[in-house]
Amino acid sequence: MEAYKKTIEEVRQELQATSQDGLTQQQASERLEKDGRNRFEEAPKESMVKKILHSLSDFTTIVLLVAAAISFYTAVATDHGDLFEGILIIAIVIINSVLAIVQEGNAEKALAALQDMNKQTALVIRGGQLLEIDAEEVVVGDTLVIENGSMIVADARIIKGSQLRVEESALTGESEPVEKEVDFVAIQDENLGDQINMLFKGCTVVNGRGQAIVTATGMQTEMGKIAGLLNESTNQITPLQARLNSLGKRISLIALVAAAIVFGLGYMQGEPLLDMFMTSVSLAVAAVPETLMVIVTLALAFGVQKMAKKNAIIRRLPAVETLGSASVICSDKTGTLTQNKMTVRRVWAHGDEVVDTEDAMTEEAMEVLKIAALCTDVVIEQEKDELNYIGNPTEIAIVRSIQENYHSQKELREEFPRIGEIPFDSTRKMMTTVHKRGKKYISVTKGAFDVLLPLFRFGDLDQATVVNDRFGKKALRVIAVGYRVYDEEPTEMTSEFLERELKLVGLIGMIDPPRPESKAAIARAKKAGIKTVMITGDHVVTASAIAKELGILQKGDKALTGAQLREMSEEDLDRNVKEYSVYARVTPEDKIRIVQSWQRTGATVAMTGDGVNDAPALKASDVGCAMGITGTDVAKGAADIVLTDDNFATIVDAVEQGRTVYQNIRKAVNFLLSCNISEIFIVLIAMLLGWGAPFTAVQLLFVNVVADGLPGFALGKEPATDGIMDETPISPKESIFARGLWQKIGINSLVFTIVTLFGFYLGAFVDGVSPWVSASHEVGQTVAFLILAYSSIIHVFNVRSEKSIFQVKISSNKSLFEMAVLAIIITTVIALLPFTQELFNLVPVGLNHWMLAIALSFVPVFVNEMIKFHKLPEED
Ligand code: ADP
Ligand code: MG
Repeated sequence: MEAYKKTIEEVRQELQATSQDGLTQQQASERLEKDGRNRFEEAPKESMVKKILHSLSDFTTIVLLVAAAISFYTAVATDHGDLFEGILIIAIVIINSVLAIVQEGNAEKALAALQDMNKQTALVIRGGQLLEIDAEEVVVGDTLVIENGSMIVADARIIKGSQLRVEESALTGESEPVEKEVDFVAIQDENLGDQINMLFKGCTVVNGRGQAIVTATGMQTEMGKIAGLLNESTNQITPLQARLNSLGKRISLIALVAAAIVFGLGYMQGEPLLDMFMTSVSLAVAAVPETLMVIVTLALAFGVQKMAKKNAIIRRLPAVETLGSASVICSDKTGTLTQNKMTVRRVWAHGDEVVDTEDAMTEEAMEVLKIAALCTDVVIEQEKDELNYIGNPTEIAIVRSIQENYHSQKELREEFPRIGEIPFDSTRKMMTTVHKRGKKYISVTKGAFDVLLPLFRFGDLDQATVVNDRFGKKALRVIAVGYRVYDEEPTEMTSEFLERELKLVGLIGMIDPPRPESKAAIARAKKAGIKTVMITGDHVVTASAIAKELGILQKGDKALTGAQLREMSEEDLDRNVKEYSVYARVTPEDKIRIVQSWQRTGATVAMTGDGVNDAPALKASDVGCAMGITGTDVAKGAADIVLTDDNFATIVDAVEQGRTVYQNIRKAVNFLLSCNISEIFIVLIAMLLGWGAPFTAVQLLFVNVVADGLPGFALGKEPATDGIMDETPISPKESIFARGLWQKIGINSLVFTIVTLFGFYLGAFVDGVSPWVSASHEVGQTVAFLILAYSSIIHVFNVRSEKSIFQVKISSNKSLFEMAVLAIIITTVIALLPFTQELFNLVPVGLNHWMLAIALSFVPVFVNEMIKFHKLPEED
């Protein structure tokens, strides 16, 4: 409809949205019904059939199916073998696929829930009320309310606006923000970039505030037109997943080579060709760690869920890993380290006297607060008996203090109506409003004292400087208040025109107490080798006072101001960056230098942010953390995680969770590789020694699916181990096999190999083991099968902890315990029942064989306990 060529009234008429109160809920739901949700159409999800086909097209599955086909063929065409083997292989293929699909489904569900949590919202006026709604429910004709930092959720015609600037690079490629104009009406066709009375979906407001009427939603928007079908479910793969993927491929290759060798050896030893073929195929299949990737995905998904419960919403999956490596956390002060309950404590007007607002209030102090209150955007809502303040905490503190002293913000606003403003931003650190005062005009400027100082022309500036310093040392944030009078209405609402020759009215000192949990979290981080750095717009004295209280600023640490930072060269900064724990009076632009300097020292940096200007630093950091409550859409969009409680302690919790995920993946790698590598060795060595195949194909498959698969999946759910926050951060460059994992896997594979071969040898060649059962190849295979299955299952308890197996509580991961017990029961049952014995090529063995198998299965536990015992004192 080319709304940019029409006046606001015409647009309203055409959209049937003429009411100043916005649409009614009724109208909105009707339109939603008719036009559909405000979102881009997504490419269809992978269907179940496709998923199954996908899992069947897996390399190992194909090999297995071929094996099954050959097995069927031999059963029918020759009298060798039976039908059952083929059926069993197919059954195992199905079980394996079902397990994988179910587990992957679980992981996917967890990650999809994540997308729900990251849903966008929008502020709209409906039925005269300001509502925050799901952005997908915005309809044509809705009145959008936008401000600095909002993400625009639909195309809309601006109807109100002050200083609106919008970044439209996503749509037009133009990175310079566009100035918007309410009154503009185009008389000819214009490019999107020149439709300056319009807002477009997907763009961000970088300055000012306003309202707009929605003209198009979803696929009808300009962005929708170019986006086409969008696959929004981003299938992110983390660096670790990629590395493990390639590791899996390498092991598969080794397995194939081993299988070929085994086949060749068997052939030379004159074993039946088909049997040898089946054994080498199953060896190849068993040695491929196909469950590894599923377990890794599960561990990640589980970690993501845990983090969400602890108020950290992951926006990008790789962040789970990066969090575990974090070595520096650069945190905002206000609201993150502090409670965000700014309260006025002291007021100074002139002379020596400072009013302690908790004790008494004077006329003069009240005057300072009232003037300051004019220059605020706080909204007060009556909620039953209580007043609810919405807005910037600094301003809320001021407004609350006048309300509590029986003055009304509303009356003030009516007496001095506002006619213009220059909004606060954390780069300028001040704000100005212009008001009518009878026949004259007045501008009120409030902001950081040191920033305002050069702008004052009148007032007791020397005394004010002294007071400012005193306030700062008491950890008070200082707001200076000044004004200027005009006879005529100011012609320009600009900083140059308004913010000069001010008269100082007074200083307001306010405090935002530290969060009680911050101090403990900082100490915990420190123990975990993570440095906490405070970054704040506050004065250096104020910031340092709070940093000391929190334990951020300790002996040898230094505080730096933004001005000093800007004078430093990159080299100087890099050399000294480790010494600075507090950055005061910084602008969001400075943050990026701090991040990058730390990164050059090799650190992995987490950085918090809330404003529009924080987005670049959030992106530059390794883990960008946006504030969930006070954060703008822009900051959230740029971040890797969103802290729903704005709390510093949440970051530290998330780091712990990130480390846990990494550790659980290591556990899974230890568990699966120890078993798989030993399988290769056992078969290979037995063949080399001329002992014949130690396992049949179905036996190996059984071990792989039941003994490894069942307990393996539960490993992803391991809780954090106690000491996990006492270790140094994991370097992102560090191999997953570092810190002795390779050695552990090597030793374990070796032990598995020795005990299994030993068991096989006794069963196959030594007659005296059991008085009733004489040695045979089948007895050897049965004993070897029992040992491999039992020891694999038991091994899951070895890998759970660096601590002794007896010190780790079963209750901390019940499902792991249950899975292990289940696997043991199944193994035992199939080895005992005559029917299943036949199916799995097992034979009845003597009691002594059983005891032998069970005893040998515990040898790996013994060896692991020895390793743990010898290593623990060393590490302390
Ligand atoms: P931070 O987020 O690190 O606490 P801010 O950017 O919010 O810092 O504030 C920086 C400085 O700007 C404060 O120390 C204060 O002096 C001033 N300031 C903060 N809020 C306002 C406001 N609403 N109006 C004017 N000045 C403000
Ligand atoms: Mg801030």
